[in-house]
Amino acid sequence: MAKIYYENDADFNLIKSKTIAIIGYGSQGHAHALNLKDSGVKKVIIGSYEGSKSALKAKEAGLEVLPVSEAAKAADMIMILLPDEKHKAVYESEIKPYLNKNKVLMVAHGFSLHFGQIVPPQDIDVLMVAPKGPGHRVRTTYEMGHGVPSLIAIYQNASGHAKEIALAYAKGIGATRAGVFETNFKEETETDLFGEQAVLCGGLTGLIKAGYETLVEAGYQPEMAYFECLHEVKLIVDLIYEGGLAKMRDSISNTAEYGDYTRGPRVVDARVKENMKKILQEIQSGQFAKEWIHENQIGQPNFKAVRESEAAHSVEVVGKELRSKMSFLNPLSSKQENRDKVKVER
Ligand code: NDP
Ligand code: MG
Repeated sequence: MAKIYYENDADFNLIKSKTIAIIGYGSQGHAHALNLKDSGVKKVIIGSYEGSKSALKAKEAGLEVLPVSEAAKAADMIMILLPDEKHKAVYESEIKPYLNKNKVLMVAHGFSLHFGQIVPPQDIDVLMVAPKGPGHRVRTTYEMGHGVPSLIAIYQNASGHAKEIALAYAKGIGATRAGVFETNFKEETETDLFGEQAVLCGGLTGLIKAGYETLVEAGYQPEMAYFECLHEVKLIVDLIYEGGLAKMRDSISNTAEYGDYTRGPRVVDARVKENMKKILQEIQSGQFAKEWIHENQIGQPNFKAVRESEAAHSVEVVGKELRSKMSFLNPLSSKQENRDKVKVER
C-alpha cells in the first residue's frame, strides 16, 4: 500500500508566513483561498482580471484581489486555479515574467505541465496539490472540520523541500485531515483524464442515455425511464461509495443481483474494454491533449455545438421537469437553512 500522509506528517509552519497567490477564484480557487486563510496563512491574495464575476465574491469574502501579474509579483507561492485551457496564455503573459528562484509554482491538475503548455524555469519548485473532489466540497468539508483526500506530486524540486511544501499546503486546505497520496504528474494527468472520459463522465452519461433511449424507444413513459436509468444511479452509487460493490449487492434484491451478474457483462462487454484501451492510448500519446488544445485555439466550435445538443436531449428536458417537483432534492427547507446553504455555495 502506498503511504498516506496525515496531519502529523505535515509542517504547516513552512507556509504560514508566506504570501500565497491563488490565481482564479472559481470552484477550486475559492476553496483553497478561504481554507488557507482560515488555517492562518499570513497573506492570501487572489489573481483575477478586469470584469471577472468571481472577483466580486472574493472581495466580499474579505480577500485582496489583484490583477494576475501583480499577484504573481507579490507572492512567494503561486497556485494556478484557472481552467486548464487558459493556463498557457495567462502563464506566459502574467506569471512567467515574475518568477524567480525563490518562488513556488503550483497547480491542482497536471494537464498544462505534463502536456508542455507551461514550461517553467528550471530553478523553481513546481508541484501539484490536487483535491480529489469538487471545490465546493473542499470548502464545506473544511468548514465541518474534515477534508477532501488529495494528491501531491513534484514536477521540479529545486529547493530540495518541494514535498514538504506540498504537504504543508495540503494541510492548509484541510487535505491531511482526510489523507494525502503522492503521485507524479504523468500518472495524475493520465488517470484523471481516463477516469473522466471512460467511467465518471463519458462512460456514465453514455450508459444513462443508452438505457433511457432504449426504454423510451420501446414505448415506455419517459418519466419511468428517467427514474430507472438516471435518478436511481445516485442511490446505487452511494452504496458502492460506502461499502464497495458488495454493499450495493447486499442491499439490492436477489433478482437484481442475479441480473447484475448475468446481464452486466453483456452490456459492458469486451468491446467496451477495447474502446477504453484505445481512449487510454490517445491520452498517453498526447493525441487527446492536442485535439483539446486545438479546439480551444479555434474558439471551441465543436465543444459548444455538442454542449448545446446534449442539453436538448430528452432525458434532460424530462429530468428538469421532474426534479422541479422533487422537494426531497432540497432537504434544507427552512428559510434560515436555505440562507446558510446559499452562503457556503458562493
Ligand atoms: P473554474 O472554471 O471553476 O474557475 C476558474 C476561475 O478562473 C474563475 O474564477 C475565473 O473567473 C478565473 N479566470 C478565468 N480566466 C481568467 C484570467 N484570464 N485571469 C484570471 N482569472 C481567470 O475552474 P476549476 O476550479 O474547475 O479548475 C481550476 C483548476 O483546478 C484546473 O486546473 C482543474 O483541472 C483543477 N481541478 C478542478 C477540480 C474541480 O473540482 N473543478 C478538481 C481538481 C482539480 P470568472 O469567475 O470571472 O470566470
Ligand atoms: Mg478528475
